[in-house]
Amino acid sequence: RSKDNGRGCWTPYDPQMDIEREERHQLELDLRTAIQSGEITVVYQPVVNANSFEIVSVEALARWNRKGHGPVAPDVFIPIAEASGLIDELGICVLHHACRQMHDWPDLRLSVNISPGQFRDPAFVGHVETVFRETGMDPRRVVLEMTETYFIHSPERAAQALKRLRRLGVRIALDDFGAGFSSVGYLRQFGFDRMKIDRSMVTALDGGPKAVEMLQATVALARSLDIPVTAEGVETEAQAVALRLAGCDELQGYLFGRPCEPAEIDRLRCRGQVPARRPA
Ligand code: C2E
Ligand code: MG
Ligand code: MG
Ligand code: MG
Repeated sequence: RSKDNGRGCWTPYDPQMDIEREERHQLELDLRTAIQSGEITVVYQPVVNANSFEIVSVEALARWNRKGHGPVAPDVFIPIAEASGLIDELGICVLHHACRQMHDWPDLRLSVNISPGQFRDPAFVGHVETVFRETGMDPRRVVLEMTETYFIHSPERAAQALKRLRRLGVRIALDDFGAGFSSVGYLRQFGFDRMKIDRSMVTALDGGPKAVEMLQATVALARSLDIPVTAEGVETEAQAVALRLAGCDELQGYLFGRPCEPAEIDRLRCRGQVPARRPA
């Protein structure tokens, strides 16, 4: 739903739409309050080395437990934050939380998602720098994940912003590769430091050899550019094996762990490999 909004299609008057608009407005007001009062929390999903199955990184993911309503999915509240100009504040709040948390895991990298709206804001790089300074975070441990949207629409400005971010020392990953129009051309043009294969490409592996060939070709192209590859949404051992054989160097998905509280990451780290048994 999120990405297909605003197509500008004409629709006849529908009283239901007023109700939806009202609900959406209330959601936006609540989100604003939630960000300001610290109700946004952050969970962490482990990312493992595809060969050793040891945790090498975590991805920070925002969570919102809306008062009186229960949890709201990021696919719902992130687009609202983007449309209402709250994304800058929300994004920086997540980055701040996560950078503080990383003191417990000095050997891990941190991935944080960045929306096009944040990236577009000229003050963004300065805000990121401030978070690093305030939390003592080494920017070289941080990977910012972005989808191709902004790179397609404003390639020059995107390249400029990327350059400024890189000067801080952070790395940039192209998220959700294979979900949209992502082309390997972008990887090279913008010099991404990592490619994240979208869950849809991983799920497709269950469908047969054509999907496996496509995956292999995609990973091979990234590797020919010396760009390391993480696969997302890995749920089965068969997928993990196929991904490792295709040359993915890192894996992420429910097979290894769902997004969770920091204490759960501590537990997984104590166990070493996740899951305990490494696929043959
Ligand atoms: P993403 O960055 O591609 O994150 C991966 C999403 O896939 C997460 O959903 C994660 O929980 C889910 N996932 C991971 N492994 C599996 C698996 O094995 N199976 C399945 N079915 N799902 C898996 P989540 O947490 O609901 O977040 C959805 C999207 O919302 C994220 O996609 C990201 O684009 C956005 N998002 C989340 N937190 C933030 C944030 O702090 N800032 C921004 N700008 N966007 C965020
Ligand atoms: Mg991501
Ligand atoms: Mg993704
Ligand atoms: Mg996504």
